Amino acid sequence: MANKDQTDTARMEKIVSLCKRKGFIFQSAELYGGLNGCWDYGPLGAELKRNLKDYWWRKNVQERDDIVGMDGSILTHQAVLTASGHVGGFSDPMVDCKVCKKRYRADQLEEAPRCEKKASLPKGEDKHCELTEPRDFNLMFQTKMGASSDDNDPHAVAYLRPETAQTIFVQYKNVLDSSRQKLPFGIAQIGKAFRNEINPRNFTFRSREFEQMEIEIFCHPDDGMRLTDEWLEKRLCFYEEIGVPRKKLHILDVPDGERAHYSKKTYDIEYEFPFGIQELEGVAYRGDYDLGKHQEHSGKPLEYFDEQTKERFIPHVVEPSAGCDRTILALICEASDEEDLTTEGGKPDVRTVMHFKPCIAPIKVAVLPLLKNKPELVAKAKEVKNLLQPHMTVFYDEAAAIGRRYRRQDEVGTPFCVAIDFETLGEETEDGQDLTDTVTVRHRDSMEQERIAISELLPWLLARIV
Ligand code: ATP
Repeated sequence: MANKDQTDTARMEKIVSLCKRKGFIFQSAELYGGLNGCWDYGPLGAELKRNLKDYWWRKNVQERDDIVGMDGSILTHQAVLTASGHVGGFSDPMVDCKVCKKRYRADQLEEAPRCEKKASLPKGEDKHCELTEPRDFNLMFQTKMGASSDDNDPHAVAYLRPETAQTIFVQYKNVLDSSRQKLPFGIAQIGKAFRNEINPRNFTFRSREFEQMEIEIFCHPDDGMRLTDEWLEKRLCFYEEIGVPRKKLHILDVPDGERAHYSKKTYDIEYEFPFGIQELEGVAYRGDYDLGKHQEHSGKPLEYFDEQTKERFIPHVVEPSAGCDRTILALICEASDEEDLTTEGGKPDVRTVMHFKPCIAPIKVAVLPLLKNKPELVAKAKEVKNLLQPHMTVFYDEAAAIGRRYRRQDEVGTPFCVAIDFETLGEETEDGQDLTDTVTVRHRDSMEQERIAISELLPWLLARIV
């Protein structure tokens, strides 16, 4: 089993550089030196992220009768976050070095780091930072709403939400009443969250602006523990479906004393990133803490009345909370590979390939005419492209030798390439076969090729990219 210290810096550097080179992820405001902890998704990254979010939504909302979706505002009323405890207590312990003034998250330090200002001290001298006592640093971004002339007007204060969950809790009653659900039922949301992390690091893993994919499942108190275990299993299956194998996932049963005080059970689902085993998602049993607090602070009843048992109670909550950006990073780490295809004659050949599952691959199919200077080939290829384009992301490429074009698609994880050649146009094969209106489909992972009729191509692809 890998341990927490197992890291692979060189592999991570390659992944970061591939992400930039191929247009998956760029540093935000790179032109101006970069905005720390913020990232922009380029053309392929945006497709990848959209595919992940669509897949999560389809599996957790559209294909279920007991979960409904919502899309709440990012700007959040301070009363909401006061009630939830974020205004008073959403903080990490921060320490400063008294010498170099750098700031660190105290709970992430195993020992005092090397001090930048002490680097030139002679051998034998203590070169470590001299750290202050830890103090709480609130992670929320505060902002001002409206055109209040008083800079200190407390009513103008609002926050960028630090998690999507609170918008769900404060709309729980409206959703329940309007959707006529019965317990147990869930509300799902995908959206941005913001945390002023003390030390953003490990590429997109710890960012200041990120996206969450959260479900709050409201249930009878007797069902809380069972549902927490069931959802842990469901979430592990989800990761397998999108291409993160179970053997790379670790379950941390968060021990007493390390869980939030209101949580009776929390599992962290962790992944073996190249920089260590780190959290992808938390599955937490939050009891009646959230609805209880909002009922208390708002003065509005948030109890549920069970028509059958005539019971009235505050529902308990089970929360699978996943990070979209962390999942994307795990998918990229898991997919990226370098295969040694050196020939028997010793000609060196390394194939860079992303083994994305077709359901999340940014480009589903590339359409490639064998030669670009044969108008009939190009016309036929464009016909095939137009046939597929309304149904999936298609990349059309006619530049360079076909082998090179296949490799370019391997690098960005396109699962299928379709080549249009002279046989497609009706030329007989050497052994006299008529392959008119068929194309060569080349599979990314096995690099095998097969012949498929153009009339069959769309359903063939649609069946494989869901
Ligand atoms: P961590 O301990 O890594 O700071 P957390 O336990 O505070 O995370 P939660 O509050 O449980 O995280 O948030 C749920 C999910 O949101 C996390 O599992 C993670 O995937 C994602 N997430 C939280 N903070 C960040 C961040 N700064 N950058 C990217 N994703 C994040």
